[in-house]
Amino acid sequence: MEEKLCLNCGQPVGSGRKDKKYCSDACKTDYNNNKDERATPEMSLAAYMKRVQQILVKNRQILDQCLGDRNTMSMDKQDLDGRGFTFKYFTSRTRTKNSGELYCFCFELGYKEMEDERIIIVRREREIVF
Ligand SMILES: [Zn+2]
Repeated sequence: MEEKLCLNCGQPVGSGRKDKKYCSDACKTDYNNNKDERATPEMSLAAYMKRVQQILVKNRQILDQCLGDRNTMSMDKQDLDGRGFTFKYFTSRTRTKNSGELYCFCFELGYKEMEDERIIIVRREREIVF
């Protein structure tokens, strides 16, 4: 009878169940972890940058749709989340001079998270600040 070898390290898997593929649980875990890496290779820089840009443009679009022709409005954070807004990505952050509140901007449209799970959305000038 042919001896079965561990898919991860190539050592004999030893006696046990017929369908045994690994010599140990550690090898099984190791093999599956590496398999995941092989299945999803790291994105190229160009693809990554394009993806982030898409997210930023979409974020701006969502804020724009919420604002309509207003310059400021408030809504539930959950509502913004439900529209597919990605809070992790923004183009800049600004603290207001007076109150020191932090606004995150996606291009010229920004938002501030309030304590009561509400969001304030604002529109500002299309200016580049260094
Ligand atoms: Zn092994």
